[in-house]
Amino acid sequence: MIAEAAIILALLALLRKDLRSELALLEDDEIDLDEWESEATRLLARYGAAAMLAGLDTDELTPEQERLVANQVREQLPYLDKFAQEMRDSDRAAWNDDWANRAALYAGSITPIYWEGVAAIKPDQLYVFAGPDGNESCDDCQRFKTEPHTLRWFIDNDFLPTNGCALTCGGWRCEHYPAPFNP
Ligand SMILES: [Zn+2]
Ligand SMILES: [Zn+2]
Repeated sequence: MIAEAAIILALLALLRKDLRSELALLEDDEIDLDEWESEATRLLARYGAAAMLAGLDTDELTPEQERLVANQVREQLPYLDKFAQEMRDSDRAAWNDDWANRAALYAGSITPIYWEGVAAIKPDQLYVFAGPDGNESCDDCQRFKTEPHTLRWFIDNDFLPTNGCALTCGGWRCEHYPAPFNP
């Protein structure tokens, strides 16, 4: 495991766990939907800031970096709203077991924030895809396992594995991550 990717994979695992716990509180009626939504938003913001700090290897964010995190979180809000509305409209007696998985999916929003940070401090380092091919893999993923590019290039072309990216597999269940390319 590459140490650089290990940091974001660990943050992702923690955030997924917290998002699932939050949904469990909702299922047990300990919080209501509005509280769930604001708590999920708070988690995305907190982990987003942590991802940016970790990516930049720093302990304080500039106002511009804080804005970048805030924008990323804001982009997720319509999806959280839609999800909350679907739960509101559904029959609560029939709790959907897939909801926890769906809530955990929002964790993926911190991935681009992290790599944005790494890209800023390592502008010239080349990367290839590493990690398991998993359940879903595509020709793009296979191509980038051997074709090196900078992180900036992956980000600007939307080829960084993350929810809804431009990879043919869409990145939703892609388990690849960028690893430094050392010829
Ligand atoms: Zn793919
Ligand atoms: Zn992949």
